[in-house]
Amino acid sequence: MTARVLVVDDLEPNVKLLEAKLRAEYFDVVSAYSGQEAVDTAISDQPDIILLDVMMPGMDGFEACRRIKENPETMHIPIVMVTALDQQTDRVVGLEAGADDFLTKPVEDLALFARVRSLSRLKMMTDELRARYATGKGLGVVDNIEIDVDSSETRIFIIDDNEEQAERLKSTLGEDHAVSCETDPEIALGRAQSGDFDLIIVSLSIESMDPLRLCSSIRSFEETRLTPILAVVRQSDTRKLVRALDIGVNDYLKRPIDRNELTARVHTQLRRKRYVDQLRSSFQASLEMAVTDQLTGLYNRRYLASHLSAMFERAQWTDRPLATMILDIDHFKKINDTYGHDAGDKVLKEFADCVARSVRGIDLACRYGGEEFLVAMPDTDMAFAAIVAERLRQEVAGKKFMINGGRDAIEITVSIGIASTENNPDEDSAQKLIKRADEALYEAKNGGRNRVIQAA
Ligand code: GH3
Ligand code: MG
Ligand code: MG
Repeated sequence: MTARVLVVDDLEPNVKLLEAKLRAEYFDVVSAYSGQEAVDTAISDQPDIILLDVMMPGMDGFEACRRIKENPETMHIPIVMVTALDQQTDRVVGLEAGADDFLTKPVEDLALFARVRSLSRLKMMTDELRARYATGKGLGVVDNIEIDVDSSETRIFIIDDNEEQAERLKSTLGEDHAVSCETDPEIALGRAQSGDFDLIIVSLSIESMDPLRLCSSIRSFEETRLTPILAVVRQSDTRKLVRALDIGVNDYLKRPIDRNELTARVHTQLRRKRYVDQLRSSFQASLEMAVTDQLTGLYNRRYLASHLSAMFERAQWTDRPLATMILDIDHFKKINDTYGHDAGDKVLKEFADCVARSVRGIDLACRYGGEEFLVAMPDTDMAFAAIVAERLRQEVAGKKFMINGGRDAIEITVSIGIASTENNPDEDSAQKLIKRADEALYEAKNGGRNRVIQAA
């Protein structure tokens, strides 16, 4: 994996040293020599990670960090503060400024590469989501993201077989978050999957199970794949920590735990979780809009095109019949001509509701064209499809469609063509199935409309 690293330090030898180390590991390196230059380069070069010196004349590292994290164009870029002083107070100031991690000078290779790899991997994931979000926003279907962590809603899960340690963490975090603890790692795995947690804190000193295996299991479950993991390690456990970061642990704390640092790191992880959640849900919303017909709320033709082939293949694979029906409202043009386009829309919408109500959850109902609809029904033979179609035809024929705010009621009829794979075992594509349903529909129209015709 190659990532672009921005190295910031006011002293050239420091920059050159980090540059050489990173280049040797095939990272792409850009450099900046002041706080202001760091802020500008972050915008212009969009690095994957920033190594930021704290002590610089003019704008110091904390201020530069704050500015980078405030700007929507750069707020997603992880920042590692590089500090000469390994002081807790500095760490807390940095975390509050939005820093993601710290390294102390002289920078140890192992720790450096572990951090750069894990943070840039994490960023790649958010980049993909950001790109989708940008597309959704460009299409005008996605809202702006506002990150605010309402701590009363956040759920934290602590896994530590040392009950006393777990309780100490819980008492610190319990004031602001809903905290649960588990001392048995096996049980913890199950609880992590079902608990819908916003953050999981794992002690790497657990003895009854390999804590690294515990972390990698949490990473691999679908339910917790994206849940941040904060590891707690002993001072001397650098090797374990490096492995943990490789596995995908998001952040860590060393014992003895400083309360302020704990609170700040938890806050950072929760913020990131909320950001990712919002990106994902806004993408979901834009995706739904992209595949949904705006007037009727049914799936649109684009979705049908991509989904029907999969349904068709599944039907063949499982050797079960797949039926489709195409419905076309009779003389719909006359409704538009007589009552106006808005009334026509209203009828279409109500008709679509009828269709949606009369099909099962696994069926795929979509708006196929203007006043044409298509329903694909898995595991359905011709006889059953005919019953569904006839029931729908009768319901439509017997129904009053209200228009003009309920003042007028009109009646409509529908013609339906159905086809099923069962009569044509050699049927080789979803397109052919649709074509036969379409031909049956044509026959229904020619035969006088308001009827269901089964494809030959
Ligand atoms: P047939 O019984 O042969 O199906 O006759 P028809 O009038 O229903 O068929 P035709 O294809 O000639 O006309 C369809 C009409 O549907 C024409 C078009 O203006 C109207 N239409 C298509 N989409 C919409 C829409 O979104 N809203 C409204 N109000 N009308 C639509
Ligand atoms: Mg029609
Ligand atoms: Mg038509």
